[in-house]
Amino acid sequence: MKGKRADQDAGTGVAGGQSADPVVVGHLYVHIPFCHRICPYCSFHKHQPGGHDLNGFVEAVLAELDATMAAGLVSLRPETVYFGGGTPSLLASRQIERLIRGLKERFEVGACDRAGPAEWSLEANPRTFDLGKARLWRELGVTRVSLGVQAWDPDTLRILGRDHSPAEAAEAYDMLRLAGLPVVSLDLMFSIPGQSLDTWQRGLRRTIELKPDHVSTYNLTFEEDTEFLAKHQQGRLPQSEEDNAGCFELAMDLLGGAGFEHYEISNHARPGMRCRHNQAYWRGADYLGLGPGAVSTVGGHRWRNAPDTRDYTLRGLAGEAPQRSPERLTSEQRRLERVALELRTADGLEELHLDPGDGTRRVLDLLVGEGLVTMDAGDRRVRLTRAGRLIADEIAAALA
Ligand code: SF4
Repeated sequence: MKGKRADQDAGTGVAGGQSADPVVVGHLYVHIPFCHRICPYCSFHKHQPGGHDLNGFVEAVLAELDATMAAGLVSLRPETVYFGGGTPSLLASRQIERLIRGLKERFEVGACDRAGPAEWSLEANPRTFDLGKARLWRELGVTRVSLGVQAWDPDTLRILGRDHSPAEAAEAYDMLRLAGLPVVSLDLMFSIPGQSLDTWQRGLRRTIELKPDHVSTYNLTFEEDTEFLAKHQQGRLPQSEEDNAGCFELAMDLLGGAGFEHYEISNHARPGMRCRHNQAYWRGADYLGLGPGAVSTVGGHRWRNAPDTRDYTLRGLAGEAPQRSPERLTSEQRRLERVALELRTADGLEELHLDPGDGTRRVLDLLVGEGLVTMDAGDRRVRLTRAGRLIADEIAAALA
């Protein structure tokens, strides 16, 4: 990992305005908050694009980067750039071209002394792009597209409120391949009310048949302020713990059997195809987030841009920074984040992030004895076993 470690940078005054050397940041996230249709389970900052100035929005993102660099607090040397959302693939060709070229110009001016980011990821949904747009992404240097398939059967897609059919998802995948994207990831969801184990199994087999480079498998969670949570609380969307575990194990078995490495609880990659951006985040690297609702963590400070796209765009066009809510991370907060995130990865949790007290040591010994984690005597890392992966959150809480 290039750049300083967060724990070495505590107190540099990133959010406090004290004079300090800029913190070198190697990872950039850009939030594109527009979606054609709002999925009833989604809690991200997003909305439909109607009435929004998308060209102005793109200029505002570039203006936010200019303002952040001009403040002299962050030195951006991006190794990875990730366009998330929302639906980044919904941006028109001229908008994504302006955005990517604008970022690249700024990386060059911004003391980037290397060839540039090694990984450019973009989240895409079926029905939001054609072959021409996919080819443009590739020409612009996008190396990785994460396609939101979610399910391969029409009934599950209908329950999820998705606006594409299985055939449209397959067509979108083919276009990404034809356009020559080096890494294509497929996103799937499980534990969806009404989705049987058999349906999930068929979906996994269909996924494997397409030979993607990477597969993300997320279990449906009922998030605050979503239509799904309200229905779940009324008993209209029941979920079974047993089915949840069954789906998770099927994913491990089928994807593992097809040569995918289960390198994080929700992520499976062919050798050499892990997502570098997400790995950096799980390891606790600093990252800069641009866009409404985007979060940044730099030098022990964290801030979130106000999740208000209209205000973000107006401020950006006026040359003003977005409204931000800053937070100073304590060392204990950062330690707990390391435990929660690193434990989910196949690389494991560094022992040094564990509380050194006897209580934690006893819990660790107990978990090892129960076959839920292993402690590698060589690299001093705690790793979840297969059984442990099924209850990763509970183990993280016990070790926190
Ligand atoms: S497309 Fe993605 S970001 Fe948009 S509403 Fe659906 S889940 Fe949320």
